[in-house]
Amino acid sequence: MKTENKNYTGIDWFRVIAAILIISIHTSPFHTYNEWGDFIITRVIARIAVPFFFMTTGFFFISRYNYHMEKLEIFIKKSVLIYSIAIVVYIPINIYNGYFKMENLLPNIIKDLVFDGTLYHLWYLPASLIGGILVWCLVRKWGYHKAFPVAIVLYFIGLFGDSYYGIIEKSSVLNSFYTCIFQVTDYTRNGIFFAPLFFLLGGWIADCQTSLRQTTAWIMFVLMMLLMVAEAITLHTFQLQRHDSMYFFLVPSMYFLFCALLHFRGKRHVWLRDVSLVLYVIHPMIIVIVRFVAKVLHVQTLFVENSVIHFLAVVVMSISLSMVVVALWRQLGGKKKKQEDLYRAYIEINLENLAHNVKVLNAAMPPKCELMAVVKAQAYGHGMYEIATHLDKIGVRAFAVATINEGIALRRYGIRGEILILGYTPPEQAKILQKYDLTQTLVDYAYAYRLNAQACKVKVHIKLDTGMHRLGFNVYTDSLTEKEIQNIFSVFSMQYLKINGIYTHLCVADSLVYEDVLFTRRQIAIFYKVINRLKKQGISIPKIHIQSSYGLLNYPELKCDYVRAGISLYGALSSPNTKTKLQLDLKPVLTLKARVVLIRKVKEGDYVGYGRDFVADKNSRIAILSIGYADGFPRVLSGKEQYVLINGQQAPIIARICMDQLAVDITALSNICVGMIATLIGKEGDKEIMAPIVAQNAESITNEFFSRIGTRVHIECC
Ligand SMILES: *Cc1c(COP(=O)(O)O)cnc(C)c1O
Repeated sequence: MKTENKNYTGIDWFRVIAAILIISIHTSPFHTYNEWGDFIITRVIARIAVPFFFMTTGFFFISRYNYHMEKLEIFIKKSVLIYSIAIVVYIPINIYNGYFKMENLLPNIIKDLVFDGTLYHLWYLPASLIGGILVWCLVRKWGYHKAFPVAIVLYFIGLFGDSYYGIIEKSSVLNSFYTCIFQVTDYTRNGIFFAPLFFLLGGWIADCQTSLRQTTAWIMFVLMMLLMVAEAITLHTFQLQRHDSMYFFLVPSMYFLFCALLHFRGKRHVWLRDVSLVLYVIHPMIIVIVRFVAKVLHVQTLFVENSVIHFLAVVVMSISLSMVVVALWRQLGGKKKKQEDLYRAYIEINLENLAHNVKVLNAAMPPKCELMAVVKAQAYGHGMYEIATHLDKIGVRAFAVATINEGIALRRYGIRGEILILGYTPPEQAKILQKYDLTQTLVDYAYAYRLNAQACKVKVHIKLDTGMHRLGFNVYTDSLTEKEIQNIFSVFSMQYLKINGIYTHLCVADSLVYEDVLFTRRQIAIFYKVINRLKKQGISIPKIHIQSSYGLLNYPELKCDYVRAGISLYGALSSPNTKTKLQLDLKPVLTLKARVVLIRKVKEGDYVGYGRDFVADKNSRIAILSIGYADGFPRVLSGKEQYVLINGQQAPIIARICMDQLAVDITALSNICVGMIATLIGKEGDKEIMAPIVAQNAESITNEFFSRIGTRVHIECC
């Protein structure tokens, strides 16, 4: 995320608060004053800290859209590294405690490493690792609807080994079950019973973009916390608690707290994350040091026996030391370069504009009509993963692709709902269609017959050819209609085809020329004629759809079940200055950028580029940009007075565009240096290069220009 106010400042700051709450658990600041007060603060309220850390990790790490292992690998590596450092740091204290002298050392070490931590508070690190891996796999394999029951059951098992243990003790069967558990782990608040539910909640909140109002969230949080306090006091009074990490009302409390914190947006504070982590790891050592120093200096009465001062001393020292450690770490590690600083050519995808376009299109459609997002050809070059997962997040439930492989890719990305394949799929792949729950277009009768013959239940949409003469049952020529209508009837009785839709495609919907409008109206009329014949035959009509982007823009009065929107979704029209009946406020989603990799002087009469096509007519300065026709910037734009924007100024493209590079004239420009980013499509200051115009200059349409953007162009979402 680029825009400053989009980061989760609330979460960043609460990490530090959570770390301090954990220090309070380990120092009991009020225990010399009031026993119940101490119980409520350190044993109940402070219990939100660890789940908060789990949820935060889950929020950024767990997603139903995880389709490759890279993120998981990074998570494991990072967690193992942190855990290893923490273990090593605490070895001296382990030695001092006589840890290595205990009986059955090896099995105990294994047990501690996996569940309990080699020092008391370190249990959090293996719990986070195990919980994270478990939930990542659950969500990827089964999705949230199956992962939640699993995590909830685990949490309940955990609850009854923790705060509710007293109930279990009375039943001998359950008691022996828990005795088994306690052989391998000291507590149930670990990576298996405790962490998963919170990881899951965090990931789910991120994926579902739940938008609870801030006041509602806070009120509910306070309410749930009060219930949790009541729960804890009850359990404590009846002495049911074996431990006090897990409560029933902890789960809803955490949900509402997290939703409330999400409302605080602003600058990213990565250092707070690092400080809170170091704080978590080192504070027990600080406790030891404070006690030791107090003993040596004979100030125990003040610094140890007064619990509030003891707590404050530990907090201040821990925070100071953590900040020093983080500062040193950053000095040594150096600041990581931003990814974009390394890209030679990239597109920026503006997901907000995408969501805006979805809204605008939905508003232009009749009430019951649904948007079918056309994401074929890498979502028109915008990146199918980035576009489709965001559309899924914001509630789009129907997608269209051109090929079966694109459909499979969408399912692997975690896309739900309908996925319609607009093109031809070999009938032999029926099993795969079924496996991935893809909907196939029936391109004609012979195809329907062969697909049905695979004896494998598949979802299909019937396509009618009403005049384009590409794919579809031929219902255009009057003489053929009757026979073809009979064919369509018989498709409805084919055993293995589940007919969910029927549609057609308009071929001149973009034109408002009189003859073209007549032709389109005829296409539409033919379509409805067939629909009416089906109705008369007593067939219940499945979902119908006719319009693509221009179909909606020029024939908004049609009342269908879907609009198949492609180019309009990406905030562009196919060509500039085309008049449409409906004019929507669509916003471009894509920006195309490349880096200035070299600046050089050429003398009057020097040639630039292949074929000696370009001759400098005066002494000039030129810049070489790392983008070429293999990245999708058309070679035909050479010599067409096309320009790019650098530092807010226009630089004309000169010479022939190469496969990987192109040259621009920057003689008239100021303040240009190597490493700068040039904009080939998009805005810089008050200047904008519009994709439809560039496409037109390249004798093409925006659709082709976008879909040819090369695979080596990086995709950045913002
Ligand atoms: C590509 C395609 C669309 C999307 O068209 P746009 O003009 O980009 O909205 C719709 N329907 C069919 C059949 C297509 O092939």
